[in-house]
Amino acid sequence: MDYLKLADILFPEIDKTPDYFEAKYPPRDLPEGARVTRFAPSPTGFLHLGGLFAAMVAAKTAHTSGGVFYLRIEDTDKKREVEGGISGIIDGLARFGIVPDEGRISEREDKGAYGPYRQSERREIYATFAKELVKKGLAYPCFCTEDEIGAIREAQENEPIKGYFGKWAKCRNLTLEQIEANLAAGKPWTLRLRSAGDMQKKITISDFIRGKIEMPANVLDIVLLKQDGIPTYHFAHCVDDHLMHSTHIVRGDEWIASVPIHIELFAACGFKAPKYAHIAPIMKEETDEAGNVTGKRKLSKRKDPEAAVTYYSEVGYPAESVNEYLLTLANSNFEDWRRANADAPLEAFPFNLKKMSASGALFDLAKLNDVSKNVICRFSAEKVYADVLAWAKENDSDFYAHLAADKDFAVKMFNIDRTGKKPRKDIAKWSEVKEYYAYLFTDYYKNTFEMPENITKADAAAILKAYKAVYAAGDEKDVWFQKIKDLCAPLGFTPNVKEYKQNPDAFKGHVGDVSGVIRIAVTGRRNTPDLCSILALLGEEEVGRRLEECIENLA
Ligand code: GLU
Repeated sequence: MDYLKLADILFPEIDKTPDYFEAKYPPRDLPEGARVTRFAPSPTGFLHLGGLFAAMVAAKTAHTSGGVFYLRIEDTDKKREVEGGISGIIDGLARFGIVPDEGRISEREDKGAYGPYRQSERREIYATFAKELVKKGLAYPCFCTEDEIGAIREAQENEPIKGYFGKWAKCRNLTLEQIEANLAAGKPWTLRLRSAGDMQKKITISDFIRGKIEMPANVLDIVLLKQDGIPTYHFAHCVDDHLMHSTHIVRGDEWIASVPIHIELFAACGFKAPKYAHIAPIMKEETDEAGNVTGKRKLSKRKDPEAAVTYYSEVGYPAESVNEYLLTLANSNFEDWRRANADAPLEAFPFNLKKMSASGALFDLAKLNDVSKNVICRFSAEKVYADVLAWAKENDSDFYAHLAADKDFAVKMFNIDRTGKKPRKDIAKWSEVKEYYAYLFTDYYKNTFEMPENITKADAAAILKAYKAVYAAGDEKDVWFQKIKDLCAPLGFTPNVKEYKQNPDAFKGHVGDVSGVIRIAVTGRRNTPDLCSILALLGEEEVGRRLEECIENLA
């Protein structure tokens, strides 16, 4: 067969050779050991938590080695594409601080010398490499119709290997004359790989996460270009990862089964195969109605709202918390590192691809909340204010208006119990903030004046009356507390908790009960951050009004 002639017949418009593109995209000038990774999503606009996780792992892999992380848009499947899908991905990543070093940066723009970074803009490149494969006798046109392919599938029902290969590959051995006749008859064709087809051969890869994997070599004559000339994922990614000089392919482990195809494709094209790191999916525990764990499954786009990254923005987890949490899922030594380096930025963590779980990390919302509380308690009040304001602007306009109306007040509110050695860890996400601080806003404040069981209404009223007489908004904490202690004895309580515990029958209660009554009277809650700061923030007039209201209610 005259393959050169066949190549020209199939690709008359292609006048370049691979050398042209090899020269256009020369090896990267990077230090020894620098890793080049990519995130290569389809432009569906939907960023799955698993996608964010994979992108984070790929970015860290590049950045801990002084390499490059880039974004490539894989839009060879037009059915999955949505309007604005590219921006959706880019914005989703950016919200979590992932800004690729190069690649697609908006719907239409690229940054970097290895573009275009959108596959639909690379047709000439794929066709050039496809033509080269035809020239080498490693690819051939296939004229089988969908019905014929369907018939093969049916006939193969009981075969161990299914697909287009060996005796099933009808078009593999067409003569040039037959091909020309088919083309002349206007029959549509796909371009297929002429696989080496060695059933006995095994391939072995050393995956960074999975370790050594041995699999039977590919024997299928897979499709490289579809009838419309658009490449398949397999072929496109192989050409792209070669020309963009990816060194490490970090991707979901649903692609492991395709590795034999990819290894054969890289070899057929004369490319050096990249290294692989296949990430196990993020898992979730399944529970029955009684809450018992019954098994695990993949975090699912359909069943789990937390599978979409937009969920985290909507309920208001700070990006810092999500990133921190994803790192706990990625490297099991992360938490020890964090304990030893409480204030270090995340970038300082020595991320290691080899420390990733091969079986799939378990997603746990309660754990995310804990991580997030730890992250948020380290934020300054100013930062909390800015973040909550931004969140409320998009998600709670009424709360936004309250926060925006008096920044000074809100920052002071967020500063309560934040500056000491042990800041409070009560807030996990911004959607909790309004309810948490509701009593500090007159509009949101509600009080049912429900006193603890051990305090009579009369005693509660007496405490409040006595306190109202001595309260001054400007009191420093020690003065404030001394005043409360001083209230105790005349009312039959003791300022000394120990004393109370030794002899509970001798008192109506202790200083904690007294301050508890004041707390309930002013906030409607039994548990709040530092009461003295709350009273100071509310101010004399409002505190006086609330005390009065409570006293009346107790009468
Ligand atoms: N476009 C593929 C996907 O959406 C990317 C796989 C890869 O990273 O190679 O899953």
